[in-house]
Amino acid sequence: MKAMVLNGPNLPFERVERPDPAAGPGEAVARVITCGAGLTIQHVKAGRRKVQFPRIIGHEITGEIVEVGPGVRGLKVGDPVTTYFYLNCGHCRWCLQNLEPLCENSGGQVGLECDGAYAEYVKLPARNFIRLPEGLDHKKHPAEIGVVTDALATPYKVLRRARVNAGETVAVIGAGGGLGIHQVMMAKWARTRVIAVDTRASKFEACRKAGADAVVDASGGRVAEQLLELTQGRGVDVVIDYVSATATLEAGARALGRRGRLVTLGGSGKPFQALAADMLNKEQDLLGSRYVTRSEIVASLELVARGEVFPLVTVLRPLEEAEAVHDLVERGEVTGRAALQVA
Ligand SMILES: [Zn+2]
Repeated sequence: MKAMVLNGPNLPFERVERPDPAAGPGEAVARVITCGAGLTIQHVKAGRRKVQFPRIIGHEITGEIVEVGPGVRGLKVGDPVTTYFYLNCGHCRWCLQNLEPLCENSGGQVGLECDGAYAEYVKLPARNFIRLPEGLDHKKHPAEIGVVTDALATPYKVLRRARVNAGETVAVIGAGGGLGIHQVMMAKWARTRVIAVDTRASKFEACRKAGADAVVDASGGRVAEQLLELTQGRGVDVVIDYVSATATLEAGARALGRRGRLVTLGGSGKPFQALAADMLNKEQDLLGSRYVTRSEIVASLELVARGEVFPLVTVLRPLEEAEAVHDLVERGEVTGRAALQVA
């Protein structure tokens, strides 16, 4: 099969021929139709995320099962599928509670700790394939359907994690990014007032199109002040911080109102300060959110199947052009998601 391989950090993709994968016990192989190209995997290419090289990255796929190994149930040849990003054990206390991103025996992630989908075929544990629900035209919109598994499902999960209610005000920091813009879309779907926060004015129009009611230009700082002004000093109900730098988290915490919730995901993981007095007196929550469960992916796919939301893919290029696409991702020049056409 044809594959685009990374041989080390900060190196270009190399187009190689690899043997077609064969499914062992408990495994399945899918033919890849499209695969999303987001910042998570660009971090691998750029060397900001350590992996063993050589590595084939990519996990946001639309594909079709071509082989199932011995002992596999619930999947058959010809099934249209997407992928679950995390390699989890399936039997620890967290997996058993349907909270598999918290797995105690995590094997890592597809395309990082095992080869992913920048190739004609991808072999994974069978439970890492999720069959697409009825009503999705995966042949007509493979790129959009393929990115649901992360770019749309992650924002969907955050709404649940932060207990977002209709009528609340939600601020999205990093709203112009691939996940951020889908968070704007999903927050609008949840019938909230959405404030998009970003430093890049070139992304504001797309944020408004995705559903933002107001836009905050963070390039001059004063993020908390602007959010407080937009809420008549009451503060926002929910801040979702996709940048999660120390400064953005501290601005987000200062902008929270009573019963406000701050959600961190992505970012550097560095410390930040929040006021315990505000947490206590205003009954605020500081929350982390880590990827999604399989059921959240299925729920997100069903939203798309029902036509309630639709992912935004603005760049779709052949697999061989992965290098050029990743240049765009690295420079932050993609609006919504980019994807590669494999078949
Ligand atoms: Zn587990």
